[in-house]
Amino acid sequence: MVQQKSLIATGSVALDTLETPHGTTEEVLGGSASHFSLTVSHFHPVQLVGVVGDDFPEEHIELLKNHGVDLTYLKTLEGPTFRWHGKYTGPMEEAETLEVQLNVHEQFEPPFEEPGPTPDVLFLGNISPRFQQDTLDAMGERPDLVAADTMHLWIETDRPALEAFLQDVDLFFLNYEEALKLADEANTVRAGKKLQDLGPETVVIKKGEHGSIAFHGEETIAVPGYPLSQERDPTGAGDTFAGGVLSAICRSSEYSTDALQAGLILGTLLASFNVETVGTGGMRYLDLEELQERYQSYRNITGLSAGAGDFLSELLE
Ligand code: AMP
Repeated sequence: MVQQKSLIATGSVALDTLETPHGTTEEVLGGSASHFSLTVSHFHPVQLVGVVGDDFPEEHIELLKNHGVDLTYLKTLEGPTFRWHGKYTGPMEEAETLEVQLNVHEQFEPPFEEPGPTPDVLFLGNISPRFQQDTLDAMGERPDLVAADTMHLWIETDRPALEAFLQDVDLFFLNYEEALKLADEANTVRAGKKLQDLGPETVVIKKGEHGSIAFHGEETIAVPGYPLSQERDPTGAGDTFAGGVLSAICRSSEYSTDALQAGLILGTLLASFNVETVGTGGMRYLDLEELQERYQSYRNITGLSAGAGDFLSELLE
C-alpha cells in the first residue's frame, strides 16, 4: 500500500566545479542534499535542512522550490557557499577531490527551536559526521528510520565521530572503496557485516556501474547496475541512488526487505539518468515515462527467463 511518511533530508548544498573527459563545468548546483531532494521530489514530499552563502544563485532556490522541495530549513548565512571541485579520469567511478571548501557550513547549526521536528524518516546526507549527529540530536524524538551516507574525507579526518554516529544509524550508504576503508577489510561481504556491527541494521555498499549490495539484518540483496554506454558525469549518483531508495521506503507501509529491494532498483534506475547528464540535469528533467521504459528494460536485462530457469534446474538435478 502506498503510504505518506514525513521525510527530512540534510547534507551539503553546494556549487560544484566538475572536470570530466567531456570538459569542465563551473559552479553548478550540487551537494548531497540538493541531489537527494531533487530526486525524492518526483515521488514524495521532502524538507531540506541546509545552508547556503549569500552568493548562492536565486535560480537554484527557484529550481528546488519548483520541484516542491520544502526550503523552510534552508538558511542563508553571510559568506560563500560550500564549494567542491572534483575530477574524473579513466573509468568514471569515483571523483578525485581537487578542492573542498566548507565555507558557511562551518558555522552552521541545525536551525530548530526546541522541540525540533520529528520526521518519520531522516536522511543525513554526506557532510561532516558531527553535523549529522547534531541534526539527529536536534530532532524532537528519534525518527523511525535514520539513514546516512558518508565519504572518504570524513573517514580520513573524523573517523571517531563517524563511528560514534553510526551507532545511531539504521540504514547506511557508502561506496565500495569507502566501505573497505572504514571496515579495514578487503572483501565486500566481510566489510558489510563489520559495518553492521558498528550499528546500522542495513548497510548498502554502492559499486557504481556494477550495482550495489545490501546487508539487511541477516539478509543480503544484490542489485545489478543498469548498463549504459555513455556516462557524462557521475556526480551525485550516490545521492540520487539514496533518494530512490528512500522514496520507495517512504511510500511503503513498512520498512521491509521488499521495500528495500524495490528502493535499491528504483535508486539504480534513477542514478543511471543522473550519470547521463552533467550536475543535477538528470533529476531536473526526469521523464517518468522514460523511467518506466528503463524499468522494463532493466527487468528484461536482469530477469531469469522461464526457459533458462527450467534448464538450470534440470542441469543441477
Ligand atoms: P556523490 O557523487 O553522490 O558522492 O555526491 C557528490 C556531491 O557531494 C557533490 O555535488 C558535492 O558537492 C558533494 N560533496 C563532495 N564532497 C563532499 C564532502 N566532503 N561533504 C559533503 N558533500 C560533499
